[in-house]
Amino acid sequence: MSYFDQYLKANEAYVALHGTAHLPLPPRMRVAILTCMDSRLHVAQALGLALGDAHILRNAGGRVTEDMIRSLAISQQLMGTREIVVLHHTDCGAERLTNEGFAKQLNDTLGVDVGEMDFLPFSDIVKSVKEDIAKLKASPLIPDDIIISGAIYDVDTGKMNPVSYP
Ligand SMILES: [Zn+2]
Repeated sequence: MSYFDQYLKANEAYVALHGTAHLPLPPRMRVAILTCMDSRLHVAQALGLALGDAHILRNAGGRVTEDMIRSLAISQQLMGTREIVVLHHTDCGAERLTNEGFAKQLNDTLGVDVGEMDFLPFSDIVKSVKEDIAKLKASPLIPDDIIISGAIYDVDTGKMNPVSYP
């Protein structure tokens, strides 16, 4: 049993609330928020975002990857965003894995050898935010005048705590 039918039903109610207003494609705040896929982090609610306000880019850990850079380049060059917020969070799943351990698990359960694949785990959450900001700053695809901030979201309290850089 999948949740898909439930989602379709919930969406009917949402459509009634949404109406047919057409928002512009570029985000109103000209910001891209880079964060984790964690289900306890409701980005729009936590940061006070409305529809059309910001790009929200998510992956496991909220880490800066090649595909995040790809999305940020499109966000900035085609849709005019000028600011990035790197938002990691407490109790992240990425803190609970190691490359070696997860590679072994994949081999055991799926029979796939992923070799030296980096799943971007981290053990120090402040350091992971700083590392990702450093990666953004080092990327030739992210212009120097882009404003970059970092923060840690506390999944127990909902509070967003800034991380100073460097
Ligand atoms: Zn996470």
